[in-house]
Amino acid sequence: MKAILYDAPRSFSYRDVSEPPIAEDDVLIRVKACGLCGTDLHIHEGEFGPRFPLIPGHEFAGEIAAVGAKVTGWQPGDRVVANCNRACGHCFQCRRGRFLHCENMEAYGIQMDGGFAEFLRVKAADVFAVSGLPWREAVMVEPTACAVHGMDVLAAKPGAEVLMFGAGPTGQVLAQLLKRNGAVRLTVAAPAGPKLDLAEQLSADRVVAVDRNDPEAHRRALRDISANGFDYVVEATGAPGMCAEAVRQVRRGGEVLIYGVYPEAATFPVNPFDVFRNEITIKGSFAQIHDFGRALAYLETGQVRVDRIVSDEFALEHWDRALENAWQRRGIKTVLFPPGA
Ligand SMILES: [Zn+2]
Ligand SMILES: [Zn+2]
Repeated sequence: MKAILYDAPRSFSYRDVSEPPIAEDDVLIRVKACGLCGTDLHIHEGEFGPRFPLIPGHEFAGEIAAVGAKVTGWQPGDRVVANCNRACGHCFQCRRGRFLHCENMEAYGIQMDGGFAEFLRVKAADVFAVSGLPWREAVMVEPTACAVHGMDVLAAKPGAEVLMFGAGPTGQVLAQLLKRNGAVRLTVAAPAGPKLDLAEQLSADRVVAVDRNDPEAHRRALRDISANGFDYVVEATGAPGMCAEAVRQVRRGGEVLIYGVYPEAATFPVNPFDVFRNEITIKGSFAQIHDFGRALAYLETGQVRVDRIVSDEFALEHWDRALENAWQRRGIKTVLFPPGA
């Protein structure tokens, strides 16, 4: 089968590899589409603990092609996605029920082979049916599950004034969830362009254009919208410099959610007196572990819309072009299709 195979960071090729064998509790999935994510760009650089050689891709959707001898409830032809994250079940955190904080977490597309291939094998226990979702939208189940977890972490109260910095793919999903769950008024701030326009159409009550060279302009615009700041501020750009901006915009007693993916060595300044005096809470939200079911419900009922978030499509063999496209931040969400999909 054809696959994108990394031997080491930045060293990849599109080549023939053997089809993965399946164990008795595995299913073999014929990949129909796989989303390219910011995490994949880190994996390309060797960050996030990838285990090489590796076929990346954790946002895959496809049809079951074969099932292991002991698999029940699934058969060839079933349309599915699979939860990419697997907790070990026996570490310090897992034994306290904190599976997302597992010390031995493994993921398809990071430590185990993923979906940038014609086929991949997954444990049957990780599989979810996607019924009617088009393939290009089914790749958004995993990012949506991450946004559902972000909602759990934030636990926004009804009537909240919410500000989100950033309008990338998971941000667009999180913004829709915020608008449906707690935010009486949602403001999205991001550079002017198609991402901010889409946020305005899908979720935001107000949008503010951010010019990184002129922060006073968006600060003024945000003050006009809410002179007392915001109950919740979500930092979803992944730019470390915007974290301090998020803290600056939160009102007394409010909360900041650090939701982007940042370079591992990055830091940002926080004034401890402000945290103390203003009782500011700073929270982090990382990935998801048991949130595919709720994410699917939002997508299948059309309450979260992702059709226009998927903006750029490439054949798998054009992996280099897809990477370049993502680095240039041209579109919103890039999806790749293996041959015959
Ligand atoms: Zn992802
Ligand atoms: Zn564990």
